[in-house]
Amino acid sequence: MRVYCATSNPGKLREFTLGLKESVNVEAIPGLNSITPPEETGSTFEENAVQKALFYAEFCDGIVFAEDSGLEVDSLAGAPGVYSARFAGLDATDQDNNRLLLEKLAGVVERGARFVSVVALANGAGLLHTFRGVVEGRILEAPRGENGFGYDPLFYYPPFGCSFGEAALEAKMQVSHRGQALARMLAFLQTA
Ligand code: IMP
Repeated sequence: MRVYCATSNPGKLREFTLGLKESVNVEAIPGLNSITPPEETGSTFEENAVQKALFYAEFCDGIVFAEDSGLEVDSLAGAPGVYSARFAGLDATDQDNNRLLLEKLAGVVERGARFVSVVALANGAGLLHTFRGVVEGRILEAPRGENGFGYDPLFYYPPFGCSFGEAALEAKMQVSHRGQALARMLAFLQTA
């Protein structure tokens, strides 16, 4: 089975391919680089994922999935949330975002946080389904590890006793928000 995937984020693409490789052939949308991405105007992960999936379904013949994901920090009232990729500004790098997060949490004792992923599946006829995954952890005082992407080096996952930046990608995918959402999508595709 082939599904097209709407992302230009290399970290996400690596995880999509790993999460689905056994049963599903994940391909980037043909000509993705020449398509101007839609603005993400939703106030929830669901809204943004659905917007993206419906938008990209117009560009290919078949099933497309899009994901919206991010980090919710309890003591920041759920921020950065849907603004995770642009927390420190529109052109922010992962390092800029991580630096800002540490600044905002300087001296804060309550450091609980979660990653959320919502995957939306669509075809030319419309939305097929959405799938959600959540993983709970806490924000470290300083980055640890070089693996993964985004906020992974700051996200401590208690059951592993290390950050997602220190965990092997395969181990992260077994438990992560994205791994859960992809597993739910896979189950749906296999019974559809
Ligand atoms: P978007 O879904 O493309 O809007 O971006 C999601 C952003 O959330 C990413 O750019 C990262 O900053 C952050 N994020 C989402 N999932 C992860 C993850 O698994 N590890 C680290 N950061 C993540």
